[in-house]
Amino acid sequence: MAQALFTGAVLAACLLGLVEGIQTALGPPAPLGAGARLLAGAYAAAPLLLTGILAAAAAAGLVAVWIRTRPQGARRADPLADAMAGLWALSGFVIVVALTGGLAHRARLEPATATAVALLALVPAVGTAWALARTLRGAFASLDRALRHPVSGPLALAALLALLGAVVFRAASDAALVQRLGRWPPVFLAAWPVLTGALARVTRRVPARATARLAVPLAAVAALGVADAVARFDAQPAVQAALLDHSLVFRRVVDLAQPLFDGDGDGYAGWLGGEDCDDTDPAVYPGAREIPRNGRDDDCFGGDSPGVHRQLRVAAAPRPAGLRLAERPNLVLVTIDTLRADHVGAWGHHRPTSPALDRLAASGLRFARAYAQGPQTKASIPSMFASRYTSELIRSHHHWARMRPDNLMLAERLKAVGYRTVGIPAHPFFKRMYGLQQGFDEWDLELVQDLDRKVAFRLTGEWVADRALTWLDTRAQDPSPTPFFLWIHLFDPHFAYKDHEAWDFGEADVDRYDEEIRYTDAQLERVLARLDGAPFKGRTYVVVHSDHGEGFGEHGYRYHGQHLFDDQIHVPLVLAGPGLAPRTVAPPVPLLDVTPTLLDLAGAPLTGDLRGRSLLAWAGDRAPTPRPVFAEMLADSNHSDRRVIIDWPYKLQWGITFGEHTLYDLSVDPGETRDLSREKPTEFRRLYGHLRRWMSEEIEVYRPVRE
Ligand SMILES: [Zn+2]
Repeated sequence: MAQALFTGAVLAACLLGLVEGIQTALGPPAPLGAGARLLAGAYAAAPLLLTGILAAAAAAGLVAVWIRTRPQGARRADPLADAMAGLWALSGFVIVVALTGGLAHRARLEPATATAVALLALVPAVGTAWALARTLRGAFASLDRALRHPVSGPLALAALLALLGAVVFRAASDAALVQRLGRWPPVFLAAWPVLTGALARVTRRVPARATARLAVPLAAVAALGVADAVARFDAQPAVQAALLDHSLVFRRVVDLAQPLFDGDGDGYAGWLGGEDCDDTDPAVYPGAREIPRNGRDDDCFGGDSPGVHRQLRVAAAPRPAGLRLAERPNLVLVTIDTLRADHVGAWGHHRPTSPALDRLAASGLRFARAYAQGPQTKASIPSMFASRYTSELIRSHHHWARMRPDNLMLAERLKAVGYRTVGIPAHPFFKRMYGLQQGFDEWDLELVQDLDRKVAFRLTGEWVADRALTWLDTRAQDPSPTPFFLWIHLFDPHFAYKDHEAWDFGEADVDRYDEEIRYTDAQLERVLARLDGAPFKGRTYVVVHSDHGEGFGEHGYRYHGQHLFDDQIHVPLVLAGPGLAPRTVAPPVPLLDVTPTLLDLAGAPLTGDLRGRSLLAWAGDRAPTPRPVFAEMLADSNHSDRRVIIDWPYKLQWGITFGEHTLYDLSVDPGETRDLSREKPTEFRRLYGHLRRWMSEEIEVYRPVRE
């Protein structure tokens, strides 16, 4: 039995390695050469092969020990019951190790401490397995004897399958885990034991010695392959790209293994795609603050900077002459969550998803290429409110970071110049513990407290619009001259996409997404209609935007917070109100500009720490000089570290975690499908240099401390 299992497991590992190797070798489009393809395939197969053979040996060893240690009384017992006692003992072992690992992860222990804890956990894990083995073996045998029928085996098997089912179901319903693991690794993991069982049956007559004669050299070659892959991963960009973009499992393996190669614990590895140029010094890493002339290449780019340290000071573009704007007007900011620009009519969508927003866009300034500074709410909104990049915000280390009072937010600045400030959020991220309520006189959390995480599964736009209208009606009765700032958050385009009978665009997720946009637009229409009435008309400016986009598989992922492709960060942005003539602004602008724009309208000071500049500059006859736009995806437990620079028409993406660089020409390739890094080396160097200097010399990156 043990030898058949060993043979089956080794052959199963070979088969899965072959599948991964062939997929990785054939996946990349031309012009990758045969040699590079073969190498990529071999590198991709190696870890699977090595792990599979080691696991086969371990499993066979365990089974052999299990059979050898069978007590006299169990020799005549039902072999299934005996095997089940063994598998339950093994599950006990895995459960103890997994629990300890989970606790160590939750406790955010340093990698070294976590490894030590995991190793220590082996003791109780082995103890549990041993105790379980002894107890269950005896219990099953005596139960079968008492009932004179082999029932414990099938019962134990059913229970084990139920447990496995529960684990798989739990894992599959954890979106973050699914995203982190990807689709294929679980499939490979499940396929291995199944293939093992089938192949063990077919090859049960093959002597273990013969298999060992195959497995040992194979394991040696696989180990060499893994070592070579680690050692030369960074030296062959084409092979690296094939492995990262076309492998089924390898990328996840590297993703999980890379932190082990971060010698100085600064979050950046020196191997496996990590670009840490000095893995012994935690102050030196890609994007670190570059201190000029200190004899050290702090940011691992371009050597030690000779230049003077330049703060990113954006000259406030003077308000164009001749603009006749309302004095101390009311300001209304509408955030439509998860709305990608190319699903809005005025941005060219083929469906009538947004008549109200289209009308508003036609009446004011429509920014054709507005970019969020992050691909999800928790990055984009705080950055917009503070007009600082997400990495500059003073925040906690939590996955959902808490904003510290040190950040000066839009509402605080408006309140300081006498505005009444009101916010109606629609997501738990706006609970007070996250700090986004800073500066708001009224922060309406009723919906959030009532529904909490269920907001994603309920229609909330109508409720938010009702609240806003109630507030406006009350306000309309109030003769006080104090202007107000009202922020409302319409959340419905965010997953889960609910079906709407009133508008039927189809049954697919993307169709329902469009129905949600149409529903949200109807709520926006209600608010805009009210603002078009007395006493708000002629005294109110409205900004409507989205905080990020949504992916539907165009780049291999769904939802948002996944990447920095345009489907994640290209958002609609409209500014409308008295004295602003209709106009489409083509050059890219960041959402960082929203706060300076509202401050400019309010007549509040535009201080030097604001990274954005007032968009009113685009309302005049002479357009201001466009400037590059930057966005960030900060590494967290589910996501890699990424940065982009958009300097029209080019967009350069830098995947810091794996050292990936891609360059796109958005004017001819809006879908970002053709990497021009090699074809356009001059543009590549120009944008990459600017991006690296921006990161290490211009912005003030804040690294949260663990509490
Ligand atoms: Zn969002």
